[in-house]
Amino acid sequence: MLDADFFRRWLAAAATAVDREADRLTELDSAIGDADHGSNLRRGFAAVTDALAEGDTATPGAVLTLAGRQLISKVGGASGPLYGTLLRTTGKALGDAPEVTREQLADALRAGVDAVAKLGGAAPGDKTMLDALVPAVDALGTSFDAAREAAGKGAEATTPLQARKGRASYLGERSIGHQDPGATSSALLVAALAQTAEA
Ligand code: ADP
Ligand code: MG
Ligand code: MG
Repeated sequence: MLDADFFRRWLAAAATAVDREADRLTELDSAIGDADHGSNLRRGFAAVTDALAEGDTATPGAVLTLAGRQLISKVGGASGPLYGTLLRTTGKALGDAPEVTREQLADALRAGVDAVAKLGGAAPGDKTMLDALVPAVDALGTSFDAAREAAGKGAEATTPLQARKGRASYLGERSIGHQDPGATSSALLVAALAQTAEA
């Protein structure tokens, strides 16, 4: 069973991964965006870390909704409201259960991913974070490891796609041939989840 501490450890691992990979995320975003994805997420996850250290988060749902609120309020770019919505909606779907199963988390994340798709008007194949998140949530029904692998493959599969949403879409065909920054960061977040489940 996954308790509040599991979710705090996941977000701490995510913050570490974002910090470590920030330069790479910004480099990807400089090719097809405005070169701020790494710094956006670094600022957002630093705020999440601070809020979790101070706030009262007794349940998985409380951890995720607090983290989501921080991302929405602290990150200016598109990714802040989108990732914030992902975590907040997932947290709300978990309700006030003190512990949840992997299957329950998969169902809640499905609601979160649906909310991201609705907010951003994107679908898989549009070269966005959804290209990693949707297959990851599908695979999370099987295992954490399958989710990590699906997210990584989904992120890599964005390279030949033409962007249809977000800043990268302004480039039209010139967005082809570059991996999407948001799909790449989504794969990092899912890898941090799998890593936390292994520990
Ligand atoms: P910004 O584009 O505002 O500078 P970021 O650079 O932080 O924001 O994030 C860019 C990432 O956000 C993209 O790589 C993409 O994965 C994701 N993204 C952008 N627009 C959308 C959308 N409408 N739906 C889903 N994801 C999106
Ligand atoms: Mg950007
Ligand atoms: Mg920006």
